[in-house]
Amino acid sequence: MSAEFPEFRLGSVLATSFTATLTERRGDPVERIPTPQRLADWLAVSGLAVDSCTADQLDLGRELREAIHAAATAAAVGDPLPGPALRVINDRSAQGRAAAVLTPEGERRWRLGPASAVEDALGVIAADAISVIAGERDGRLALCASPTCRAAFFDTSQSRTRKWCEMNTCGNRQKKARFTAKRRGEHGAAG
Ligand SMILES: [Zn+2]
Repeated sequence: MSAEFPEFRLGSVLATSFTATLTERRGDPVERIPTPQRLADWLAVSGLAVDSCTADQLDLGRELREAIHAAATAAAVGDPLPGPALRVINDRSAQGRAAAVLTPEGERRWRLGPASAVEDALGVIAADAISVIAGERDGRLALCASPTCRAAFFDTSQSRTRKWCEMNTCGNRQKKARFTAKRRGEHGAAG
């Protein structure tokens, strides 16, 4: 059933993994959480399983996602952080009541409240975005070099010179485009 929906692009950083549920923002956007159930599916694979998700909660999630995208983009280019985006991120963070718990294996898990699990999950994502944008984590916010993407991503590579939000998608496409352009040039059929 889920197969008819676009696949998730999961990353290792929760906040930017969440913003990647909408891709190709500057091209033909692909909405990867088109229904409440798909947000629930995304939360489940991201360690924030919820029992249910309503249309209103999906709206809250998408609002948070776009706020994180706006704030992370501003942070990546050194612009002032946009006030409306900050308000959304801070509200979601304040309203979440998830608890970090330690497993016997020494792993951190999130325990969400029974009444408003989606809000609690969004609170965890908002807090993650805050720590990334505040520069508390080892890495650098950057914008994807793909002109149809321009997603903000968190570069944790040693050299901090990653160019694309995802090598398998944006990176390969750019390489292919360059290769095609070069071949066209060689054959004198450019344009
Ligand atoms: Zn990209």
